[in-house]
Amino acid sequence: MIRQESEGRWLAKCDLCSWKTVESNRETAESNLRNHLSLTHRKGRRRKMKKKPRILPEEKPPQIPSPIDEHS
Ligand SMILES: [Zn+2]
Repeated sequence: MIRQESEGRWLAKCDLCSWKTVESNRETAESNLRNHLSLTHRKGRRRKMKKKPRILPEEKPPQIPSPIDEHS
């Protein structure tokens, strides 16, 4: 969260941990907070829950050879 302190200073405080910073302008405070969130908490990046199904060549069912006609 971003909050204006006294003397025109801006306090950026993380809601997820005890990290905080005080900057002289809001822009810097916001960007520092965003930076902290992305580095420490990776906000905005959803964790991939599902793994892509990967079929390896070895996992493919073996090819069944066509039956040989023995009546030759
Ligand atoms: Zn944090």
